[in-house]
Amino acid sequence: DDAARAAALADLPLRDVLRGVEPYGAPQLDVPVLLNVNENPVPPSATVAREMGEAVAAAAVGLNRYPDREFLDLRADLADFLALESGVRLPPEQLWAANGSNEVMLQVLQAFGGEGRTAVSFAPTYSMYPEYARDTGTRWVAGRRRDDFTLDAAAAVALVEREQPSVVLLASPNNPTGTALPREVVEAVCDAAPGVVVVDEAYAEFRREGVPSALELLDRYPRLAVSRTMSKAFSLAGARVGYLAGSRAVVDALRVVRLPYHLSGVTQAVARVALRHSAELLRGVDTLRRERDDLVTWLRGLGLEVADSDANFVLFGRLADRHAAWQALLDRGVLIRETGPDGWLRVSVGTPVETAAFRDALVAVLATPA
Ligand code: PMP
Repeated sequence: DDAARAAALADLPLRDVLRGVEPYGAPQLDVPVLLNVNENPVPPSATVAREMGEAVAAAAVGLNRYPDREFLDLRADLADFLALESGVRLPPEQLWAANGSNEVMLQVLQAFGGEGRTAVSFAPTYSMYPEYARDTGTRWVAGRRRDDFTLDAAAAVALVEREQPSVVLLASPNNPTGTALPREVVEAVCDAAPGVVVVDEAYAEFRREGVPSALELLDRYPRLAVSRTMSKAFSLAGARVGYLAGSRAVVDALRVVRLPYHLSGVTQAVARVALRHSAELLRGVDTLRRERDDLVTWLRGLGLEVADSDANFVLFGRLADRHAAWQALLDRGVLIRETGPDGWLRVSVGTPVETAAFRDALVAVLATPA
């Protein structure tokens, strides 16, 4: 039972910082409408899925061998995608990939963080960042965003100058707020930072018209790196592929800390099929962006406060009792996320049917006195 398990765990020589800590993760519940982890609601098409199956079959006959450790074919495909998506052309050697961008960023902390070093970010932001720091023995310092979730460049620079972090993590668009950073803010942090600056662009493909990608700054800042993922825009969360664009030197540093053959041959094959279909996937992203904008407008129409979103999710508030609202939505079969500042909830953009179910449930919940 639970008490016996807890006692057995307490008996192990667990690191002090891990004592009593729960594994990170949103509830995985079996309900009709899942809008809680910012997945893409549209699965790979039948054509893409079939091609993936064929690619996996072809890879399977070679699985007695370790996979290509440098995966330069995949890195070339990722470079082509970034050129298509952001107009920034990089050589494959400036790309890196791992099992989700979480692993990529953990590798960044393994390479540049550690004992006696500091990592900085600005809250509210992605809750895994302090875990990368914890797991690598890196000191963690979180500054604050403004009340509207934007980042004050002068305040960010002041914190960076004071803390002298070896790693700065900037999520843009930010999770859970959806806020993208203007170019000047990223430049100001890069100018002030003594170490590596990672702009986490997990949701970049969903940014609104005219919002820049930090990829455009790579040629000016050799210590800047841009982290991306195939989990969101590519509908590939289950395959676990994240990647990073940076200078060759930054990529070389990650090659030192990666485990040998960390990216399986099956993963590489599946990712390359998805990348072959980039153009089609980006059209799907366009639809989701429009639905996101409609959802923001609709929530504001209800009189709620809604953060501007450049991502595939929307943060809204303020609810006197957000937990009660979250539970009431769940009771109606709609799972969203209780995260961010108190009083706010985050909902992912689903299919039109899922979003309609969320709207109906929310209207019912708001009409019911607590
Ligand atoms: N960065 C941000 C801001 C995220 O929200 C997420 C996933 N929720 C990730 C990184 C990690 O995603 P993955 O490991 O699937 O690439």
